[in-house]
Amino acid sequence: MVKPFIIGTRNAKDMIHLGAEILREGGSAMDAVEAAVNAVEDNPLDGGVGVGGTPNLLGVTQLDASIMDGRNRRSGAVAGLENVAHAISVARKVLELTPHDLLVGPGAEMFARAVGIEKSDLSTERTRKIAAAMRAGSPEGILEDEKEKERFLRMWLEEGRGEWYEKISKADWGTVNIMAMDANGDMCVGVSTSGLGYKLPGRVGDSPYIGAGNYCDNRFGSAACTGKGELAIRLSSARMIVSYLENGLTLRGAVRKALKDVHSLQDGTISCLVFDGEGNTMSGSMTGESIHYYMDVDSEGPEERKGVWVKP
Ligand code: ASP
Repeated sequence: MVKPFIIGTRNAKDMIHLGAEILREGGSAMDAVEAAVNAVEDNPLDGGVGVGGTPNLLGVTQLDASIMDGRNRRSGAVAGLENVAHAISVARKVLELTPHDLLVGPGAEMFARAVGIEKSDLSTERTRKIAAAMRAGSPEGILEDEKEKERFLRMWLEEGRGEWYEKISKADWGTVNIMAMDANGDMCVGVSTSGLGYKLPGRVGDSPYIGAGNYCDNRFGSAACTGKGELAIRLSSARMIVSYLENGLTLRGAVRKALKDVHSLQDGTISCLVFDGEGNTMSGSMTGESIHYYMDVDSEGPEERKGVWVKP
């Protein structure tokens, strides 16, 4: 019998204890994941998730999130969600209350209100500064009306899509991956993010795509991704990792195979987090040392675990 446990990416280090407490009291993997992700979403200093999430090209923070239940492979997700900090909770409501998998934009926000999730201000001093800088970069200096916005995007498409975008977007992304297994052996994975910094309005990354940024199946394991979402979408990275486990690869082997495949695209990098049905955990990076954090029901604090650096 595997001890109930929870793991997360670096930015979840000080939050996974909230999930571990829930597991200790016999709570479900999904409750544990949601509580820990909510804490990251509430942290204005994270900069890549929930409150304080990096804005898009028009200075607006739009969130993507997803959650998957390994018992039945049901999932819920939101994309391009504005004015709600707990995007993962809206995703969970999509899973529990609707026949759908993914709600986007204004529809997702309306749904959040309908299920009683309150409006929140996602801006912080940092994001307001970024928004002001974005406005200053627009042709007339102001991005007030729709025409202005369109003109700015046209300019960006025609001339601005250069080095400056590469530079700022590389420096400013972040996503939280948290996953758990409970006393019943049930698995859950949660992903939440403001996505790629300075993305085009409406851009959706891998995080709310089930199979790209997130996948879990009680029979084999659980996986989630961060990094350049476009790549995880093209390669269905999270789904592939779980499928490699199903086909007998070790955790390390599955991570290596998935990340080698991303290397072959020669278009950027992703990282991943994974565990199997025996409670073994692993993470992988394409750019350097990979670490993740682990706690089980007997842990006193988060344990740093080393993953694998997968080179081309
Ligand atoms: N994967 C996220 C996205 O592409 C970004 C990130 O992990 O930081 O939206």
